[in-house]
Amino acid sequence: MSLKITDQCVNCDVCEPVCPNKAISLGREYYEIAPDLCTECVGHHDEPQCVIVCPVECIIPDPEHPESPDALLAKYARLTG
Ligand code: SF4
Ligand code: SF4
Repeated sequence: MSLKITDQCVNCDVCEPVCPNKAISLGREYYEIAPDLCTECVGHHDEPQCVIVCPVECIIPDPEHPESPDALLAKYARLTG
């Protein structure tokens, strides 16, 4: 499942550089995650790096983009292949 950033985001910018897939960018009002690029960090790290660094805990699973662990691994393979 891709993660998403809620409107609680304070635009602190610390999550953007830690994403191994360059899935995070500044949107119109606050930071956003591109669902087609987020693997929940599967393949790169044991835990979602953006969630670890976010000071306001505003990064949550996106129910509109459900994916199994296998699907996340396949996405990782596609992105890194
Ligand atoms: S969970 Fe990982 S891949 Fe997804 S946006 Fe956060 S840092 Fe990037
Ligand atoms: S770390 Fe959290 S508060 Fe900071 S820009 Fe990223 S989502 Fe927003």
